Amino acid sequence: MMSEQKRNYQKEMERLLASNPSPVPTLLLHSCCAPCSSYVLEYLSQYFEITVLYYNPNIYPEEEYFKRVKEQSRLIETKNQEGTGYPIHFREGTFEPREFYEAVRGLEQIPEGGERCFACFRLRLSCAAQAARKGNFSYFTTTLTISPMKNAQKLNEIGEELAEKYGVHWLPSDFKKKNGYKRSVELSAQYGLYRQDYCGCVFSKREREAQKAERKL
Ligand code: SF4
Repeated sequence: MMSEQKRNYQKEMERLLASNPSPVPTLLLHSCCAPCSSYVLEYLSQYFEITVLYYNPNIYPEEEYFKRVKEQSRLIETKNQEGTGYPIHFREGTFEPREFYEAVRGLEQIPEGGERCFACFRLRLSCAAQAARKGNFSYFTTTLTISPMKNAQKLNEIGEELAEKYGVHWLPSDFKKKNGYKRSVELSAQYGLYRQDYCGCVFSKREREAQKAERKL
């Protein structure tokens, strides 16, 4: 077990990247949306052959889900045309919202950033860990640590726990470090990506709408 002191997941990732063996390792990257993945793809496609897994049954409503998937696949196509890194592959997961509602049952009213989100992370990362295991990937990770709204420590703890459970390697990350979040905003503007103003689920949508209404008042 690591000591209680705060870990620097960005530094841990840098150490791993520096020791990358050849041939090119493969990475199963769970992505929440195109804007968040923009910086991660720019950064990690220098080191890995990446497969983006878009598994996000939390997204509400359905039209929003399809909008986000489309943007994700458009970004990957553009990145591959640019050819500035190793090829990036795309895989869409299933979209069964009931999987999300079952995972967060009883936690619906907890505000964004709390236990409901931890259950949501676990659901999505479990799928990624299993896909990484099945596809024999060198590592798996998620774009979610880029968001200042997401608890990177919790995400890494869940990732490590699932890595152990499924016998795969977790790539630690804290993508918001080193101006990662700022770069994702710049890249989103550069590629003209659709940027949503709420995390994804119906509860986060309501929270955002309430905040907007409050500000108006
Ligand atoms: S706010 Fe975001 S992370 Fe939290 S439960 Fe909703 S979709 Fe999942």
